[in-house]
Amino acid sequence: MGKIVCVTGANGFIASWIVCKLLQRGYTVRGTVRNPEKCGHLLGLDGAKERLTLFKADLLSYESLLPAFRGCHGVFHTACPVAFQFDNPDDVLGPAIQGTENVMTACSNEKVQRVVMTSSGAAIVADPNRPKDKVVDESCWSDSEACKEWKSWYSLAKTESEKLAWKFAKEKGLDLIVICPVMVFGPILQPTSNTTVEALKNIIKGSSIPNSWIRLVDVRDVAESHIVALENEAASGRYFCFAHCIHYKDVVSVLAKKFPQHCNPELQCDESQPVGGIAPELTKNDKLLSLIKETIPYEQTLVDTISCLDDKGFM
Ligand code: NAP
Repeated sequence: MGKIVCVTGANGFIASWIVCKLLQRGYTVRGTVRNPEKCGHLLGLDGAKERLTLFKADLLSYESLLPAFRGCHGVFHTACPVAFQFDNPDDVLGPAIQGTENVMTACSNEKVQRVVMTSSGAAIVADPNRPKDKVVDESCWSDSEACKEWKSWYSLAKTESEKLAWKFAKEKGLDLIVICPVMVFGPILQPTSNTTVEALKNIIKGSSIPNSWIRLVDVRDVAESHIVALENEAASGRYFCFAHCIHYKDVVSVLAKKFPQHCNPELQCDESQPVGGIAPELTKNDKLLSLIKETIPYEQTLVDTISCLDDKGFM
């Protein structure tokens, strides 16, 4: 049996792929979940019968995390509510910030050797005061005051929870690596759809193409980067986790060719205004590519996402 590791929110989109790849690599895997009934897809994975144990735990209950982390070599802290908009800020700020404090405290008390946390590009890019020509990389942080002003509670939650994790790690000498993915697409293992793949579906079924750049990464590359971050002793700090920067028109063109039956043929892009988002030449993913070497082509990611939703009857 391989080393023991734990994944928080194991039933989620990204976490399910982390669990799947950990089992493939021979790890003994634990997962914290709020609702074990949602986890049939995990129990059916190769190796799960022999090497996967699920623990019922909530991020807001420190005590509930301890048995899951006891004796673990590494913990992947992935759980966090995900939505583009939260009407009540507490719905995301509480689980993200208090939840991260509970996870970090429990990891420290249980002497976990390395924590790999899933933060977000949302903790990197949201800064209205960044000079227009500044290349955005791991050294950049979102501006919490601006996030509050924009009521961007998800970005605020990811920024503040990641800052808390770094402060805690420094004070307690806990080994921490942080992965900051951008928009994550790719096939889903869990039985229900999730926020980001749903967004992709809504774009091709919608009425207009955003006139904007999009940074994206395949969920299988995100899972891989988390695992290599645990395994590679030289890994350190934050990783801005994106594989491609393309225009939304490229997204739609790939999918319209492959799935004409699912795309609105009237889709138009209003190009009368300047292109939104951060231009490709103004971001860098060199550090990620030093960790995982190669990434899945975006055409494959997009096609695999919609094929998977189609197969599951979600289109
Ligand atoms: P997801 O499929 O919605 O999974 C979220 C997970 O968090 C679920 O297991 C959920 O459990 C759990 N969770 C939420 N609130 C919790 C709480 N109070 N206590 C315990 N568990 C809780 O989301 P995902 O897309 O895989 O995202 C996973 C992580 O990646 C998050 O940290 C997110 O911020 C980050 N991320 C995602 C993307 C993306 O594009 N998807 C991009 C950047 C960063 P339940 O099923 O019980 O609700």
